[in-house]
Amino acid sequence: MAAPEQPMLDKYDPAAIEASWYARWEEAGVFHEEPDPSRPPFVISMPPPNVTGRAHMGHGSTYTPQDILTRYHRMLGDNAVWLPGLDHAAIATQNVIEKELAKEGLTRFDVGREKFIERARQWRELYGDIIYKQFRALGFGPDWQRDRYTMDEGLSKAVIKVFVQLYREGLIYRGTRLVNWCPRCGTTLADTEVEHEDVPGTLYYVRYRTEDGGDGVVVATTRPETIFADVAVAVHPQDERYQKLVGRLVERPLSPHAIPVIADTAVERAFGTGGLKITPGHDQADAEIGQRHGLAAISVIGPDARMTDAVEAEFVGLDRFEARKRAVQTLHDRGALVKEEPYTVSTGTCYRCDTVVEPLLSLQWFVKIKPLAEPALIASQSGKLRFVPERYRRTYEDWLEHIRDWCISRQIWWGHRLPVWYCANGHVTVAETTPAACAECGDKQLTHDPDTLDTWFSSGLWPFTILGWPDKTPELRAWYPNQVLVTAREIIFNWVARMVMFGIHFAGDVPFGRVLITPLILDEQGRKMSKSLGNSLDPMELVRDYGADATRFAIVSQMHGGQDVRFSIAKCDDARKFCNKLWQAVRFTLDADSHGAVDFIRPMMSVPDETSWTLPDRWIMDGLARTAGRVTQALDAFDFAQAAQTLYSFLWNELCDVYIEIAKDKAPTRGPILMHVLATSMQLLHPIMPFVTEELWMRLSRDGLIAESAWPSVNSGWLDDRARTDMTRLLEFVEAVRALRALPKLPYREMRDVTVIGADAQLLELLRNETGVVARLARAERIHAPTGADGRPVHSVSRRLGAVEVLLPVDEAYVEKERVALDKEIARAQEEAGAIERKLQTSFVEKAPPDVVSKERSRLAELNQTLAMSRERRESLR
Ligand SMILES: [Zn+2]
Ligand SMILES: [Zn+2]
Repeated sequence: MAAPEQPMLDKYDPAAIEASWYARWEEAGVFHEEPDPSRPPFVISMPPPNVTGRAHMGHGSTYTPQDILTRYHRMLGDNAVWLPGLDHAAIATQNVIEKELAKEGLTRFDVGREKFIERARQWRELYGDIIYKQFRALGFGPDWQRDRYTMDEGLSKAVIKVFVQLYREGLIYRGTRLVNWCPRCGTTLADTEVEHEDVPGTLYYVRYRTEDGGDGVVVATTRPETIFADVAVAVHPQDERYQKLVGRLVERPLSPHAIPVIADTAVERAFGTGGLKITPGHDQADAEIGQRHGLAAISVIGPDARMTDAVEAEFVGLDRFEARKRAVQTLHDRGALVKEEPYTVSTGTCYRCDTVVEPLLSLQWFVKIKPLAEPALIASQSGKLRFVPERYRRTYEDWLEHIRDWCISRQIWWGHRLPVWYCANGHVTVAETTPAACAECGDKQLTHDPDTLDTWFSSGLWPFTILGWPDKTPELRAWYPNQVLVTAREIIFNWVARMVMFGIHFAGDVPFGRVLITPLILDEQGRKMSKSLGNSLDPMELVRDYGADATRFAIVSQMHGGQDVRFSIAKCDDARKFCNKLWQAVRFTLDADSHGAVDFIRPMMSVPDETSWTLPDRWIMDGLARTAGRVTQALDAFDFAQAAQTLYSFLWNELCDVYIEIAKDKAPTRGPILMHVLATSMQLLHPIMPFVTEELWMRLSRDGLIAESAWPSVNSGWLDDRARTDMTRLLEFVEAVRALRALPKLPYREMRDVTVIGADAQLLELLRNETGVVARLARAERIHAPTGADGRPVHSVSRRLGAVEVLLPVDEAYVEKERVALDKEIARAQEEAGAIERKLQTSFVEKAPPDVVSKERSRLAELNQTLAMSRERRESLR
């Protein structure tokens, strides 16, 4: 790369460097990759963000690791590629368009299907790229040339092919089943699209009398409006209370009709009275019991959530919740309501609009899932598919073990239309292209099924369809299966499991070897980020305020072992300061070079011969080798926090605070070594902080782009335990001197002499040999090491370092003044602390508001800390 045209700014400014580097990476084709079987593949399919989406913190936590891993593996020399794309997000997009129309006073029916779909298409043209722009600003580098879309031509063809094949294999069927219905969206929902929450409700105890007017059985229900659809009352076969009733008939209390009392082990004896009303038309568990007993299902609530005309006249047309109120009133009037009690009801709501979902009997299309689920289960049990953290394997397997057939038809317009046609004779034709006539009777009048496919049907095919399936492309051969999938835990069922099922069935293998589940980003108090709480963070604002590098660093450095992250913005500020620290380190290095203050021999890029290394040289090279090893290990283990922290502490605490300080003294080795350590560290840091490292790499005049440079290998010959031990001892000594020097009001002029008492031969030798280091870091010019107590300064401040005592001489007046001041301070703090302690033993603790009590407690802790520090200082005065 050419020498930098612009001089380095005094301070690190992310806005000044981030804009240009992204374009240069794209121009250089850094992110583009062709299949190359001669190198190990490293492929990640990007979870396709919704076309309606904006970048949020969830993208920060799941996409930053994908970018880090791809950049890292590219530097390792792998055939590394990150495959991007967008999801048409059927219901989400449909809702957005409907909202737009509503602003114009229109519904989708006013504009019609074709125009509606056209609008949804335009949506992608107009807004689909917003999230991609945001991804670029975050430094994410997928192979943009391979961008795909779940509604693009190739993927749409693949979706239809899969449907037709599954239908021919008997794995897709049409049937009337209880489905989750959102009355607001007017469509079915998959089980995974229903969100369950506990809401306060009421449990109603309703009497079902025997036909002869006997007491019959009391049933507890939260939904009395569905009594119209009851087909039986069930009790547990071993429940002695009801033995005599089993097999007899009871009267349905709202709409007189005799229904049988049946016995089924699924009934919980302890719930309510032990009697359960069976309503297969409006409850999934009841539907299963009903099936076992050959009972029909009756439906009394329509798709609009209003009572149908299958109920008594006064109820017809009522909304389900109004109907509930009236049902309670009617039951009460008829003396059938025994009692009511408060009860927490687990309620299913639509994941898109929060409307309470209604279980409805409906004629829909389903995937027969068991034959697909079994191989997916075996894949994880055999270790072919692994979860990180491992505990998510249980989540995945539990779901697959209890999986039910998947309802895939949706009554919305935006999405892949079902390749299904009907003739007037009720025949069904399923075909990849529009058929000319009915496959059974040859009727030419065919109606195309108006429904579209569940959005997860197409995204479930993602990893192999984006590689060109069903064609046998070089991409499919080289890059399937992918090496890893990185995603959030809330889509393990919706997405991960379905990709595994479809991948095995259609592409012949699991779609990825490992699934990394990233943690949830919470606010600082540990609450979920949500619009209603107003505590959401916008990653784009973080990028604006702190830069993309700092934002990425702050996100991954807080990701510990899959635990949810309580995200602290202070970490962004820390990370930006870290960038500035690196900036200043490079500026110093280049400055020193151009002024000749340090003997940097240009263009000498290699490290000087090891025999000429001083102790600090050996120590920093040991540190670099260790850091390279640890970062490599951490990235291989997906431990991004470990990688970030290792680099942070090495670069800040060792390189900047110590080595660069020492490098300010002339030593022939230090220039090239400093250059080498800085440049190598920038490479190790590049996957996490791509922009600043690229800029500093260029400033250090390294060849080419850092993004395309080779990952630093660990030179184990540089590991040097002896250098580490020796420097650690020296630095402890330096720390002790610095701590003394930091004491308040200490007269500066008296501190050039440092006395050590009790030092062993090894430490003395180090202090003698490394006078330069000691002089630079501890600003100590003369070190006295008296053998007996005689050499001790008359007045001093001191600090212990194990058996060693470090002393700075001071004058008598200082000691006296400090003693008096400290005694006063100690007395004052003791008095206040005592008063608070006494107060906390009284009834104050129970009576005062909790925040007042906790304030007192933290004040006490503060005082105790002051006391400890003052006593220590008092101790050090002689
Ligand atoms: Zn809805
Ligand atoms: Zn026909």
